[in-house]
Amino acid sequence: MNLILLGPPGAGKGTQAQFIVKKYNYFQLSSGDLLRDEIKKNTTLGKRIVKIMPQGELITDEIVNLLLKKVITKPENKNRIIFDGYPRNIFQAENLDQVLKEDNQVIGTVIFLNVSREIIKKRIIGRITCEKCNVILNEFFNQDEIDLHQCGKKYLKKRDDDNQQTIITRYNTYMEKTKPLLDFYSSKESFYEIDASLKIEVITGKIDKILNV
Ligand code: AMP
Repeated sequence: MNLILLGPPGAGKGTQAQFIVKKYNYFQLSSGDLLRDEIKKNTTLGKRIVKIMPQGELITDEIVNLLLKKVITKPENKNRIIFDGYPRNIFQAENLDQVLKEDNQVIGTVIFLNVSREIIKKRIIGRITCEKCNVILNEFFNQDEIDLHQCGKKYLKKRDDDNQQTIITRYNTYMEKTKPLLDFYSSKESFYEIDASLKIEVITGKIDKILNV
């Protein structure tokens, strides 16, 4: 069944999604990665996205919903998707319900990774992603892993939108547009909240337990 990871930027959605993919037979659908791919490929959509993303603003629902639908409805992804970064507002959540319903899929579990603004700042400012294998590391917490990274240091990059100014916009956007989704999903039986200020492996353990229920 599908799984939604909710939480502010820097809550660890991507990191935990990578763990779930490795351990369980899931497919990670990161809306941010999909949008960054469009930029890399310099597509028509990519040219529009690159004007908005570095400011920390949300990309229009029309673009995001279109890109996501293509991936959600691929037969090989059916009912094994981890949504990481989507939905980001009520309109997207309603769209997701609709797309899943038309494709005979369901949202299985929703996990909210809850973490304070202060912790998020440090996580985002230190974040480094490998362009080759997509692993997410942090300058403040994983210096050894950075030095020994298997793909080589040249692939380790900071994201354009991971800077002090943009973090504030992204956090405010989260509070205004995405946080209301908690009301949308929290009445579901399969809604769980995890304290995401805990260590990565502790959070992973809690997710593991939820998925094994
Ligand atoms: P993320 O990789 O999830 O941190 O997203 C990075 C940026 O991509 C966000 O700040 C937005 O500009 C854009 N983005 C990612 N997911 C969405 C979404 N579901 N709706 C709108 N914009 C998005």
